[in-house]
Amino acid sequence: MSYAVISDVHSNIHALEAVLRDINERGITDIFFTGDVVGYGPKPNECIELIKQNCKIILAGNHDWAAIGYTDITYFNQYAKHAIEWTAKELSEEHIEDLKTFNLVKSSEENDAFFAHSTPMDPELWSYLFSVEQVVQNFSAFKQSICFIGHSHLAVVFEMDETGQTYIHKEPILRNKKSRYIVNTGSVGQPRDNDNRSSYGLIYDDTIEIVRVEYDIGLTQAEMAAVGLPEMLINRLSLGI
Ligand code: ZN
Repeated sequence: MSYAVISDVHSNIHALEAVLRDINERGITDIFFTGDVVGYGPKPNECIELIKQNCKIILAGNHDWAAIGYTDITYFNQYAKHAIEWTAKELSEEHIEDLKTFNLVKSSEENDAFFAHSTPMDPELWSYLFSVEQVVQNFSAFKQSICFIGHSHLAVVFEMDETGQTYIHKEPILRNKKSRYIVNTGSVGQPRDNDNRSSYGLIYDDTIEIVRVEYDIGLTQAEMAAVGLPEMLINRLSLGI
């Protein structure tokens, strides 16, 4: 059993294409998406289309919900807000309908996996999972052996062993059959860990790996500039912040 998990594409079609190519070259066909297909970037409709064609599970993230008016954007910073307002106007009727059908959480019995964009415990609050205390609480919010999240754009693996002890991993890890995991696979379209390459997760029976893929950042940046998206959002892609 092997599958890929991707997250936080944010309308960056060149990043998404590079990641899908990389997954395809590895012969992996099962791909799960943990939300935020739109927001920030220049190609929302094209990204929704590719995600629909390639992913078995598709979640909605806070930017997806914001673009269709399902969640409040008063807490968004000015750049994110600008991008969401632009996205809302850019989306086709068909793709607005698609976004409405994407769930906040899903599970795959076949892979004993659970999926949520922000947290498995309170998916609609859009909180970030950082503290050990929160992580421990969230392990009780799903019954599967592994849960995938996105939202922070920072790849990390939280492990809880059979005694309840938790560990944080930043490197590829060997899976302990008796442990449970919460995995953030990082962001395809706007990585924020000072590495500008796209990030996604590769899951095998015995390992969890975070893969980094180069894409044509300049092309995405030129498309963003052409439609007048904020310079701050354009520049951060080069820096991976
Ligand atoms: Zn995001």
